[in-house]
Amino acid sequence: MPELPEITNLARQMNHEITGRRIATVEAAQPKCLNLPAPDFRHLVEETRVGSVTARGKWVFMQLEPNVTFLLNLGMGGDALFHAARTPLPENRQVAILFEDETALSLHFWWFGYVHAVRTADLASHAMTATLGMNPLDDQTFTRDAFEGLLERKRRGALKTVLLDQKNIAGIGNVYVQDILFAARVHPLRAAGDLSPAERTALYDAIRSQLRHALDLGGLAYEKDLYGQPGGVKSLLVGYCEGKPCPVCGTLVQKIRTGGTASFICPNCQT
Ligand SMILES: [Zn+2]
Repeated sequence: MPELPEITNLARQMNHEITGRRIATVEAAQPKCLNLPAPDFRHLVEETRVGSVTARGKWVFMQLEPNVTFLLNLGMGGDALFHAARTPLPENRQVAILFEDETALSLHFWWFGYVHAVRTADLASHAMTATLGMNPLDDQTFTRDAFEGLLERKRRGALKTVLLDQKNIAGIGNVYVQDILFAARVHPLRAAGDLSPAERTALYDAIRSQLRHALDLGGLAYEKDLYGQPGGVKSLLVGYCEGKPCPVCGTLVQKIRTGGTASFICPNCQT
């Protein structure tokens, strides 16, 4: 499942590649991905020009000038691929955005994805994105104080649950959360309010460093970027490494159940 590093990388590439292009039309082989009936969706986006493309959590936000915002969520995973003019589109596409210059963006979801368009003035009423929390790579808003405040407000919550709740911090999912907790040497079931000052600092630093490192490498090797290329993150520290030695102490990594999700921990390092 793509998380903040993959989606941020994708949004940057889209911003570079498709900004300025005008949308001719949108084809939807799977119309239930859309938030509107297909004719209404097309009416909203046709003849708009792509402004900037940014990421918020696991969502791509594409400004369509003059007054529409296009929202993309790849769900459990999928491909958003750019196609040069007059090249064939993948057969398995569920949605395709065709630009006036005959370039295109195709979307394929492994399971299900969201392709929404809303008037920018109405963005606050788009329930799935309006409640997104802090961007952990934004130095202006994701400060030490803001993170401490979050841990205090959610002090009874299990750490992993707090980190995965998109309303708190947007963009961390069940892949990167594993190595974030490991790097901070804290157990996923610890209560958020129970951390020492040193552990709070370690967790704040781990969130930023783990996500930034993954973004620098272009995300996970089993996800594709806008050009179909895999990311550079080929292995995780403990995430999905059950039975392998901990990179710090050599103890075998364990898989445990934490609420509705699996967690991978070093039982020696993470307490
Ligand atoms: Zn260890």
